[in-house]
Amino acid sequence: MLTRVKSAVAHFMGGVMAGTSGTEHLHGADLPLKCPYARPDFLALSPDEMECSADHTARPILTLKETRRLAWATGYAEVINAGKSALNEDQACCEVLTVKRRPGGSSTPSRALTAKRRSSLPNGEGLGRRDGSQETAGLVFHYWALFDGHAGSGAALVASKLLHRHIVAQLQEVVELVRNPASLPPTVLGEEGEQKGTPAAHRALTRAASLRGATGTPGSPAPRFFAEKRVPHESLVVGALENAFKEMDAQIEQEKAMFNISGGCTALAAMFLLGKLYVANAGDSRAIIIRNSEIIPMSTEFTPESERQRLQFMGFMQPHLLGGEFTHLEFPRRVQRKEIGKKMLYRDFTMTGWAYKTINDEDLRFPLIYGEGKKARVMATIGVTRGLGDHDLKVHDSNISIKPFLSCCPEVKVYNLSHYEHGANDVLVMATDGLWDVLSNEEVMESVTSFLANCDPDDLHRYTMAAQDLVMRARGVLRDCGWRITNDRLGSGDDISVYIIPLMYGNRQA
Ligand code: MG
Repeated sequence: MLTRVKSAVAHFMGGVMAGTSGTEHLHGADLPLKCPYARPDFLALSPDEMECSADHTARPILTLKETRRLAWATGYAEVINAGKSALNEDQACCEVLTVKRRPGGSSTPSRALTAKRRSSLPNGEGLGRRDGSQETAGLVFHYWALFDGHAGSGAALVASKLLHRHIVAQLQEVVELVRNPASLPPTVLGEEGEQKGTPAAHRALTRAASLRGATGTPGSPAPRFFAEKRVPHESLVVGALENAFKEMDAQIEQEKAMFNISGGCTALAAMFLLGKLYVANAGDSRAIIIRNSEIIPMSTEFTPESERQRLQFMGFMQPHLLGGEFTHLEFPRRVQRKEIGKKMLYRDFTMTGWAYKTINDEDLRFPLIYGEGKKARVMATIGVTRGLGDHDLKVHDSNISIKPFLSCCPEVKVYNLSHYEHGANDVLVMATDGLWDVLSNEEVMESVTSFLANCDPDDLHRYTMAAQDLVMRARGVLRDCGWRITNDRLGSGDDISVYIIPLMYGNRQA
């Protein structure tokens, strides 16, 4: 993902980073680790197993032990890369969490976290019931997440330990509204049942008018009324996820003053709450639903190519971010000095097509976006444009910061799980790019569907075996010419992490 990364030296400037005096010049590597390297807690690896898992030659596929269960009998498997980094930079987290109402129902949100881990409950059964007991226990949701680190495992480790806590904290601010729509102030949230002409709507319009001083004075122009925007309830959950990602990124930035948190990471998180599945993605991991052999994409990848126009627009609007070394324009190839004055195809942030322009001196600068497919890079440095961390990432041998071009905001897709009846072979597949680099959605769908069809339907371990099978298909086998998969194609040399989440459990709890 990274081709060139300047060493992560943290020079914290006064007034910018919390907890620094402005005179400190701490070296990131000299600080204590925020989180020591580990594999996901749910794998419960012994020290020996941890050491074996990092064998770049054998590349053993790690799976959930038969004695362990994740919520919904979720399957999981992972494998380390073929040598591109010493450690596995993917991380994973799976939890069943509870959002509790703020004590006393204060209108001032408390930042105190109330996440209560309930992973020990077998399969999380019965956790989604909206009955009286849940009123006191809080709002329960299921959470699965994958993080793909680059330039170190620090950011991925921290995010795997903390992102869900930020989600809980954000949900805590809206928990009453999300759980009990009847309690919504209709004119504030645009409750769906609210219709124009009802007394409540009239009060809202009157209030809106009075806020603008439109009091209906005789002879004054007729006031122009605007109803308040209707906000669907699921948007509150989407907003909570979006803000949780931002808070996580801000925490990494702040804590880099005190801890060694290396690199950055992509983040793909799925959450099941009140009958709906929310999938938030910042990066190039991917989630798909396989339902009755149909593929339903639940994420899109954020890469220099897919986000070219956003990045070019930023370079155009804030040219100082380009450091005088890059051009926001894209050309089909590098422009050479002898081509000045000649015409060449180009495109900018307003264009998806190409047009001709006359080449000038500024066009000789290196393109902000350069390369194709997996080799495309922002500022010749990074191949993914959304994620967490990377606050110190600079263009090699320069002081040009890349972070302003990266976004920590996820795209969130919503799937109303309770609208469909799911069979035992209907699953959500989540995986890091190590899988999708070598297997298409269709290949994954065919592999998972045929594998599960041949399993004992009473075997709760079958989803883990299906995940193991997928990782095996993407990693391949080691031959004289390297890792090879079906049809002698090149296997994935990246870290690979896969969840297979059966959706029928969501129907039972919706
Ligand atoms: Mg990867």
